[in-house]
Amino acid sequence: MTFSRRDFVKTSVMGAVAAGMDGAQPATAEAGHLEHASQSETPKRSVIICAHNGHAYVEAAYAFLKNGGDTLDAGIQVVKGPEDDPNDDSVGLGGLPNEEGVVELDACCMHGPTRRAGSVGAVRNIINVSMVSKAVFEHTGHVMLVGEGAERFAVAVGFPRVNLLTERSRKIWLLWKEYNSDRDWWGPGMADPHWHPPAPDSKPQAELWQEKIQQLCQRAGELGIEPEFQLAAVRRVIFPPTGTIHCSVLNEKGEMSGITTTSGLAFKLPGRCGDSPIIGAGCYTDQDVGSAGATGAGEENIKVAGAHTIVENMRRGLSPQEAGMDALKRIVRNYNGDMTKLHYMDMTYYILRKDGAYASVCLWEGYAAGHPHRFVVHDGTLREEVATPLLKGFSQEWPPFPTIPEELKKNSVYVK
Ligand code: ASP
Repeated sequence: MTFSRRDFVKTSVMGAVAAGMDGAQPATAEAGHLEHASQSETPKRSVIICAHNGHAYVEAAYAFLKNGGDTLDAGIQVVKGPEDDPNDDSVGLGGLPNEEGVVELDACCMHGPTRRAGSVGAVRNIINVSMVSKAVFEHTGHVMLVGEGAERFAVAVGFPRVNLLTERSRKIWLLWKEYNSDRDWWGPGMADPHWHPPAPDSKPQAELWQEKIQQLCQRAGELGIEPEFQLAAVRRVIFPPTGTIHCSVLNEKGEMSGITTTSGLAFKLPGRCGDSPIIGAGCYTDQDVGSAGATGAGEENIKVAGAHTIVENMRRGLSPQEAGMDALKRIVRNYNGDMTKLHYMDMTYYILRKDGAYASVCLWEGYAAGHPHRFVVHDGTLREEVATPLLKGFSQEWPPFPTIPEELKKNSVYVK
Protein backbone atom coordinates (compact mmCIF):
# COMPACT_ATOMS: atom_id res chain seq x y z
CA MET A 1 0.00 0.00 0.00
CA THR A 2 1.33 3.42 -0.83
CA PHE A 3 0.79 6.25 1.57
CA SER A 4 1.31 9.74 0.32
CA ARG A 5 2.24 12.57 2.58
CA ARG A 6 -1.04 14.29 1.77
CA ASP A 7 -3.03 11.22 2.82
CA PHE A 8 -1.05 11.04 5.97
CA VAL A 9 -1.75 14.60 6.97
CA LYS A 10 -5.42 14.21 6.05
CA THR A 11 -5.86 11.21 8.31
CA SER A 12 -4.50 13.09 11.30
CA VAL A 13 -7.55 13.96 13.35
CA MET A 14 -8.81 16.83 15.41
CA GLY A 15 -7.99 19.53 12.92
CA ALA A 16 -10.96 21.53 14.08
CA VAL A 17 -10.12 21.65 17.72
CA ALA A 18 -6.45 22.31 17.38
CA ALA A 19 -6.37 26.02 16.81
CA GLY A 20 -3.63 27.13 14.53
CA MET A 21 -2.09 23.77 13.85
CA ASP A 22 -2.48 23.68 10.11
CA GLY A 23 -1.33 27.24 9.76
CA ALA A 24 1.35 26.78 12.38
CA GLN A 25 4.49 28.80 11.98
CA PRO A 26 7.19 26.96 10.11
CA ALA A 27 9.56 25.19 12.45
CA THR A 28 12.62 27.07 13.35
CA ALA A 29 15.45 26.35 10.97
CA GLU A 30 14.00 23.37 9.14
CA ALA A 31 16.18 22.56 6.21
CA GLY A 32 13.34 21.74 3.86
CA HIS A 33 11.11 18.75 3.28
CA LEU A 34 12.61 15.42 2.29
CA GLU A 35 10.41 12.77 0.75
CA HIS A 36 12.63 10.03 2.12
CA ALA A 37 14.57 11.03 5.14
CA SER A 38 16.74 7.94 4.88
CA GLN A 39 18.12 9.34 1.63
CA SER A 40 19.18 12.56 3.29
CA GLU A 41 22.69 13.80 2.82
CA THR A 42 25.32 13.75 5.48
CA PRO A 43 24.76 16.82 7.65
CA LYS A 44 27.11 19.74 7.27
CA ARG A 45 27.14 20.48 10.96
CA SER A 46 26.79 18.85 14.32
CA VAL A 47 23.54 19.60 16.16
CA ILE A 48 22.46 19.17 19.78
CA ILE A 49 18.85 19.73 20.82
CA CYS A 50 17.58 19.42 24.40
CA ALA A 51 15.12 20.60 27.00
CA HIS A 52 15.73 24.06 28.49
CA ASN A 53 17.25 22.71 31.72
CA GLY A 54 20.23 21.45 29.74
CA HIS A 55 21.28 24.93 28.61
CA ALA A 56 24.30 25.32 30.89
CA TYR A 57 25.86 22.05 29.73
CA VAL A 58 25.42 22.17 25.95
CA GLU A 59 28.42 24.34 25.05
CA ALA A 60 30.91 21.90 26.59
CA ALA A 61 29.12 18.91 25.07
CA TYR A 62 29.23 20.55 21.64
CA ALA A 63 32.99 21.14 21.94
CA PHE A 64 33.40 17.50 22.94
CA LEU A 65 31.40 16.46 19.87
CA LYS A 66 33.44 18.70 17.55
CA ASN A 67 36.59 17.05 18.88
CA GLY A 68 35.36 13.68 17.76
CA GLY A 69 33.45 12.71 20.91
CA ASP A 70 30.76 10.08 20.62
CA THR A 71 27.17 11.32 20.12
CA LEU A 72 25.75 9.42 23.10
CA ASP A 73 28.58 10.54 25.37
CA ALA A 74 27.88 14.13 24.29
CA GLY A 75 24.20 13.66 25.18
CA ILE A 76 25.17 12.20 28.54
CA GLN A 77 27.37 15.24 29.22
CA VAL A 78 24.30 17.41 28.77
CA VAL A 79 21.82 15.43 30.86
CA LYS A 80 24.34 14.65 33.61
CA GLY A 81 24.35 18.37 34.45
CA PRO A 82 20.75 18.49 35.72
CA GLU A 83 21.15 14.99 37.22
CA ASP A 84 23.99 16.25 39.41
CA ASP A 85 22.29 19.57 40.24
CA PRO A 86 20.46 19.31 43.60
CA ASN A 87 18.38 22.38 42.71
CA ASP A 88 16.84 20.81 39.60
CA ASP A 89 14.02 18.93 41.29
CA SER A 90 12.86 17.14 38.14
CA VAL A 91 15.94 15.01 37.48
CA GLY A 92 18.54 13.02 39.43
CA LEU A 93 19.80 14.30 42.79
CA GLY A 94 17.10 16.37 44.52
CA GLY A 95 14.30 15.09 42.28
CA LEU A 96 10.87 15.30 43.86
CA PRO A 97 10.11 11.92 45.45
CA ASN A 98 7.27 9.45 45.13
CA GLU A 99 4.26 9.53 47.47
CA GLU A 100 6.29 7.75 50.16
CA GLY A 101 9.08 10.31 50.04
CA VAL A 102 11.52 8.14 48.08
CA VAL A 103 13.20 9.41 44.90
CA GLU A 104 12.88 7.00 41.96
CA LEU A 105 14.61 7.74 38.68
CA ASP A 106 14.00 6.62 35.08
CA ALA A 107 16.23 6.87 32.01
CA CYS A 108 16.83 5.41 28.58
CA CYS A 109 19.17 5.92 25.67
CA MET A 110 19.83 4.81 22.11
CA HIS A 111 23.21 4.77 20.41
CA GLY A 112 22.66 5.22 16.68
CA PRO A 113 26.02 4.10 15.26
CA THR A 114 25.90 0.70 16.99
CA ARG A 115 22.09 0.53 17.13
CA ARG A 116 22.10 -0.35 20.79
CA ALA A 117 19.64 0.71 23.50
CA GLY A 118 19.50 0.66 27.29
CA SER A 119 16.97 1.60 29.90
CA VAL A 120 16.40 1.67 33.67
CA GLY A 121 13.17 2.34 35.57
CA ALA A 122 12.27 3.22 39.16
CA VAL A 123 15.89 3.24 40.33
CA ARG A 124 16.60 4.37 43.88
CA ASN A 125 19.86 5.72 45.38
CA ILE A 126 21.82 6.21 42.13
CA ILE A 127 22.30 9.72 40.71
CA ASN A 128 23.39 9.22 37.09
CA VAL A 129 20.76 6.85 35.75
CA SER A 130 21.46 8.17 32.24
CA MET A 131 24.89 6.54 32.48
CA VAL A 132 23.39 3.43 34.03
CA SER A 133 21.06 3.09 31.02
CA LYS A 134 24.14 3.09 28.78
CA ALA A 135 25.87 0.59 31.09
CA VAL A 136 22.92 -1.78 30.57
CA PHE A 137 23.83 -2.31 26.93
CA GLU A 138 27.57 -2.18 27.60
CA HIS A 139 27.58 -4.82 30.33
CA THR A 140 24.54 -7.02 29.68
CA GLY A 141 22.55 -8.63 26.92
CA HIS A 142 19.41 -6.92 28.22
CA VAL A 143 17.77 -3.66 27.25
CA MET A 144 15.76 -2.76 30.37
CA LEU A 145 16.34 -3.20 34.11
CA VAL A 146 14.02 -1.89 36.83
CA GLY A 147 13.78 -1.30 40.57
CA GLU A 148 16.02 -3.13 42.98
CA GLY A 149 17.66 -5.17 40.23
CA ALA A 150 18.62 -2.01 38.37
CA GLU A 151 20.06 -0.49 41.55
CA ARG A 152 22.11 -3.59 42.31
CA PHE A 153 23.34 -3.68 38.71
CA ALA A 154 24.41 -0.02 38.97
CA VAL A 155 26.38 -0.72 42.15
CA ALA A 156 27.93 -3.81 40.57
CA VAL A 157 29.32 -1.76 37.68
CA GLY A 158 30.67 0.93 39.97
CA PHE A 159 28.04 3.59 40.61
CA PRO A 160 27.95 4.80 44.23
CA ARG A 161 24.81 4.59 46.36
CA VAL A 162 23.69 8.11 47.34
CA ASN A 163 20.71 9.54 49.23
CA LEU A 164 18.88 11.38 46.43
CA LEU A 165 16.42 13.24 48.65
CA THR A 166 17.65 16.77 49.36
CA GLU A 167 16.32 18.67 52.36
CA ARG A 168 14.37 20.98 50.10
CA SER A 169 12.67 18.16 48.22
CA ARG A 170 11.91 16.38 51.49
CA LYS A 171 10.22 19.52 52.87
CA ILE A 172 8.17 20.01 49.70
CA TRP A 173 7.08 16.37 49.92
CA LEU A 174 6.10 16.88 53.58
CA LEU A 175 4.08 19.96 52.65
CA TRP A 176 2.34 17.94 49.92
CA LYS A 177 1.64 15.15 52.39
CA GLU A 178 0.02 17.56 54.83
CA TYR A 179 -1.94 19.39 52.13
CA ASN A 180 -3.49 16.18 50.86
CA SER A 181 -4.32 14.69 54.21
CA ASP A 182 -7.02 16.39 56.21
CA ARG A 183 -8.28 12.92 57.12
CA ASP A 184 -5.17 11.42 58.62
CA TRP A 185 -2.65 12.37 61.29
CA TRP A 186 -0.14 14.17 59.08
CA GLY A 187 0.14 17.93 59.70
CA PRO A 188 -0.49 20.01 62.80
CA GLY A 189 -2.99 18.41 65.18
CA MET A 190 -5.68 20.34 67.03
CA ALA A 191 -3.41 20.99 70.01
CA ASP A 192 -0.91 22.73 67.74
CA PRO A 193 -1.12 26.56 67.50
CA HIS A 194 -0.81 26.20 63.68
CA TRP A 195 -3.95 24.08 63.35
CA HIS A 196 -6.69 25.61 61.13
CA PRO A 197 -10.35 24.58 61.25
CA PRO A 198 -11.78 23.56 57.86
CA ALA A 199 -13.08 26.52 55.87
CA PRO A 200 -16.89 26.91 55.84
CA ASP A 201 -18.55 25.59 52.68
CA SER A 202 -20.26 28.92 52.12
CA LYS A 203 -17.04 30.79 51.30
CA PRO A 204 -16.51 31.76 47.65
CA GLN A 205 -13.90 29.63 45.84
CA ALA A 206 -11.72 32.65 45.19
CA GLU A 207 -11.39 33.42 48.89
CA LEU A 208 -10.82 29.78 49.73
CA TRP A 209 -7.87 29.62 47.35
CA GLN A 210 -6.36 32.83 48.65
CA GLU A 211 -6.58 31.47 52.16
CA LYS A 212 -5.23 28.07 51.20
CA ILE A 213 -2.23 29.53 49.44
CA GLN A 214 -1.50 31.83 52.36
CA GLN A 215 -1.74 28.97 54.84
CA LEU A 216 0.47 26.76 52.71
CA CYS A 217 3.11 29.50 52.39
CA GLN A 218 3.05 29.95 56.14
CA ARG A 219 3.37 26.20 56.69
CA ALA A 220 6.23 26.07 54.15
CA GLY A 221 8.02 28.67 56.30
CA GLU A 222 7.41 26.62 59.44
CA LEU A 223 8.86 23.57 57.71
CA GLY A 224 12.00 25.58 57.00
CA ILE A 225 11.59 26.24 53.26
CA GLU A 226 13.47 29.44 52.37
CA PRO A 227 11.17 32.49 51.90
CA GLU A 228 12.07 33.03 48.25
CA PHE A 229 11.17 29.43 47.41
CA GLN A 230 7.96 29.13 49.44
CA LEU A 231 5.58 30.08 46.65
CA ALA A 232 7.36 27.73 44.27
CA ALA A 233 7.01 24.95 46.84
CA VAL A 234 3.29 25.66 47.19
CA ARG A 235 2.89 25.55 43.44
CA ARG A 236 4.56 22.14 43.34
CA VAL A 237 2.18 20.91 46.05
CA ILE A 238 -1.03 22.12 44.40
CA PHE A 239 0.04 21.25 40.88
CA PRO A 240 2.61 18.42 41.07
CA PRO A 241 5.05 19.23 38.31
CA THR A 242 6.55 17.16 35.56
CA GLY A 243 10.09 17.80 34.40
CA THR A 244 12.74 15.79 32.66
CA ILE A 245 15.58 16.27 30.25
CA HIS A 246 15.89 14.79 26.79
CA CYS A 247 18.85 15.37 24.48
CA SER A 248 19.30 14.31 20.85
CA VAL A 249 22.68 14.62 19.17
CA LEU A 250 23.98 14.52 15.59
CA ASN A 251 27.60 14.77 14.47
CA GLU A 252 29.13 15.74 11.14
CA LYS A 253 29.47 12.08 10.14
CA GLY A 254 25.69 11.72 10.45
CA GLU A 255 25.88 9.63 13.62
CA MET A 256 23.02 10.16 16.06
CA SER A 257 22.06 9.30 19.62
CA GLY A 258 19.30 10.20 22.07
CA ILE A 259 18.95 10.10 25.84
CA THR A 260 16.25 10.96 28.39
CA THR A 261 16.45 11.04 32.18
CA THR A 262 14.01 12.06 34.92
CA SER A 263 12.75 11.72 38.47
CA GLY A 264 9.31 11.43 36.87
CA LEU A 265 6.03 12.74 38.04
CA ALA A 266 6.23 14.26 41.53
CA PHE A 267 4.53 12.20 44.29
CA LYS A 268 3.82 9.26 41.96
CA LEU A 269 3.00 5.80 43.26
CA PRO A 270 6.11 3.80 44.14
CA GLY A 271 7.17 1.74 41.15
CA ARG A 272 5.45 3.96 38.61
CA CYS A 273 7.45 4.30 35.39
CA GLY A 274 6.60 7.10 33.01
CA ASP A 275 7.63 7.40 29.38
CA SER A 276 11.25 8.33 30.06
CA PRO A 277 12.59 4.76 30.42
CA ILE A 278 10.42 3.45 27.58
CA ILE A 279 12.36 3.11 24.34
CA GLY A 280 10.01 4.45 21.69
CA ALA A 281 8.11 6.76 24.04
CA GLY A 282 10.54 8.99 25.99
CA CYS A 283 13.33 8.51 23.46
CA TYR A 284 13.87 6.91 20.08
CA THR A 285 16.76 7.14 17.65
CA ASP A 286 17.04 5.53 14.25
CA GLN A 287 20.42 6.07 12.68
CA ASP A 288 18.84 6.18 9.21
CA VAL A 289 16.21 8.78 9.99
CA GLY A 290 16.49 10.85 13.14
CA SER A 291 16.03 11.07 16.88
CA ALA A 292 13.24 12.31 19.13
CA GLY A 293 12.46 12.56 22.82
CA ALA A 294 9.86 13.90 25.18
CA THR A 295 9.14 15.74 28.39
CA GLY A 296 5.67 16.05 29.89
CA ALA A 297 2.76 13.75 30.66
CA GLY A 298 4.41 10.34 30.55
CA GLU A 299 1.23 8.27 30.60
CA GLU A 300 -0.09 10.10 27.54
CA ASN A 301 3.17 9.76 25.67
CA ILE A 302 3.42 6.03 26.29
CA LYS A 303 -0.02 5.57 24.71
CA VAL A 304 1.06 7.21 21.46
CA ALA A 305 4.64 5.80 21.52
CA GLY A 306 5.58 9.43 20.91
CA ALA A 307 9.27 9.33 20.03
CA HIS A 308 8.91 6.28 17.79
CA THR A 309 5.82 7.71 16.09
CA ILE A 310 7.74 10.89 15.32
CA VAL A 311 10.76 9.11 13.87
CA GLU A 312 8.52 6.90 11.75
CA ASN A 313 6.62 9.97 10.55
CA MET A 314 9.92 11.49 9.42
CA ARG A 315 10.83 8.24 7.69
CA ARG A 316 7.62 8.62 5.68
CA GLY A 317 8.56 12.12 4.66
CA LEU A 318 7.09 14.47 7.22
CA SER A 319 9.23 17.36 8.39
CA PRO A 320 10.32 17.34 12.07
CA GLN A 321 7.54 19.78 12.98
CA GLU A 322 4.84 17.90 11.08
CA ALA A 323 6.03 14.63 12.59
CA GLY A 324 5.80 16.04 16.11
CA MET A 325 2.42 17.69 15.54
CA ASP A 326 1.00 14.37 14.42
CA ALA A 327 2.07 12.72 17.69
CA LEU A 328 0.45 15.56 19.65
CA LYS A 329 -2.76 15.16 17.64
CA ARG A 330 -2.85 11.50 18.63
CA ILE A 331 -2.83 12.57 22.30
CA VAL A 332 -5.70 14.97 21.58
CA ARG A 333 -7.52 12.16 19.77
CA ASN A 334 -7.14 9.85 22.75
CA TYR A 335 -9.36 12.28 24.67
CA ASN A 336 -11.69 12.99 21.75
CA GLY A 337 -10.59 16.58 21.93
CA ASP A 338 -11.99 17.09 25.45
CA MET A 339 -10.30 20.36 26.37
CA THR A 340 -11.25 20.09 30.03
CA LYS A 341 -9.12 16.99 30.34
CA LEU A 342 -6.43 18.10 27.92
CA HIS A 343 -5.88 21.24 30.00
CA TYR A 344 -4.50 19.05 32.77
CA MET A 345 -1.63 17.73 30.69
CA ASP A 346 1.24 18.98 28.61
CA MET A 347 3.75 17.41 26.30
CA THR A 348 6.87 18.66 24.57
CA TYR A 349 8.81 16.83 21.88
CA TYR A 350 12.40 17.49 20.79
CA ILE A 351 13.06 16.33 17.26
CA LEU A 352 16.24 16.08 15.19
CA ARG A 353 16.42 14.72 11.67
CA LYS A 354 19.50 13.09 10.23
CA ASP A 355 20.18 16.03 7.93
CA GLY A 356 20.28 18.48 10.86
CA ALA A 357 16.71 19.82 10.53
CA TYR A 358 15.08 20.12 13.93
CA ALA A 359 11.93 21.23 15.72
CA SER A 360 10.33 21.26 19.14
CA VAL A 361 6.55 21.10 19.46
CA CYS A 362 4.30 21.20 22.50
CA LEU A 363 0.65 20.60 23.30
CA TRP A 364 0.10 23.98 24.97
CA GLU A 365 2.00 27.25 24.69
CA GLY A 366 3.35 26.97 28.23
CA TYR A 367 2.06 27.07 31.79
CA ALA A 368 1.22 30.78 31.84
CA ALA A 369 1.37 33.88 29.68
CA GLY A 370 4.96 34.98 29.27
CA HIS A 371 6.29 31.49 30.04
CA PRO A 372 6.36 29.65 26.71
CA HIS A 373 7.96 26.22 26.40
CA ARG A 374 11.55 26.76 25.37
CA PHE A 375 14.19 24.39 24.12
CA VAL A 376 17.92 24.61 23.56
CA VAL A 377 19.71 24.06 20.29
CA HIS A 378 23.38 24.22 19.30
CA ASP A 379 24.43 23.90 15.68
CA GLY A 380 27.51 26.06 15.93
CA THR A 381 25.61 28.72 17.86
CA LEU A 382 24.04 28.02 21.23
CA ARG A 383 20.56 29.47 21.66
CA GLU A 384 17.09 28.96 23.13
CA GLU A 385 14.03 28.88 20.92
CA VAL A 386 10.32 28.75 21.63
CA ALA A 387 8.63 25.42 20.94
CA THR A 388 5.67 25.48 18.52
CA PRO A 389 2.36 24.73 20.26
CA LEU A 390 -0.44 22.64 18.80
CA LEU A 391 -3.11 24.33 20.92
CA LYS A 392 -3.56 27.96 21.85
CA GLY A 393 -3.53 28.65 25.56
CA PHE A 394 -1.88 27.15 28.60
CA SER A 395 -1.96 23.90 30.49
CA GLN A 396 -3.92 24.08 33.73
CA GLU A 397 -3.49 27.57 35.10
CA TRP A 398 -2.15 27.92 38.57
CA PRO A 399 -3.53 28.80 40.94
CA PRO A 400 -6.84 27.57 39.51
CA PHE A 401 -8.60 30.51 41.07
CA PRO A 402 -7.58 34.11 41.41
CA THR A 403 -4.23 35.66 41.50
CA ILE A 404 -1.59 35.11 44.11
CA PRO A 405 -1.72 37.75 46.87
CA GLU A 406 0.77 40.52 46.05
CA GLU A 407 2.52 40.37 49.43
CA LEU A 408 3.40 36.72 48.78
CA LYS A 409 4.73 37.49 45.35
CA LYS A 410 7.07 40.18 46.63
CA ASN A 411 9.70 37.89 48.12
CA SER A 412 9.43 35.29 45.46
CA VAL A 413 12.32 35.03 43.06
CA TYR A 414 11.34 31.72 41.55
CA VAL A 415 7.74 30.69 41.05
CA LYS A 416 8.01 27.57 38.93
N1 ASP B 1 7.70 12.45 31.22
C1 ASP B 1 8.08 12.36 32.60
C2 ASP B 1 7.28 11.29 33.28
O1 ASP B 1 6.11 11.16 32.99
C3 ASP B 1 7.89 13.60 33.36
C4 ASP B 1 8.24 14.85 32.67
O2 ASP B 1 8.69 14.88 31.57
O3 ASP B 1 8.08 15.91 33.24
O4 ASP B 1 7.81 10.65 34.15
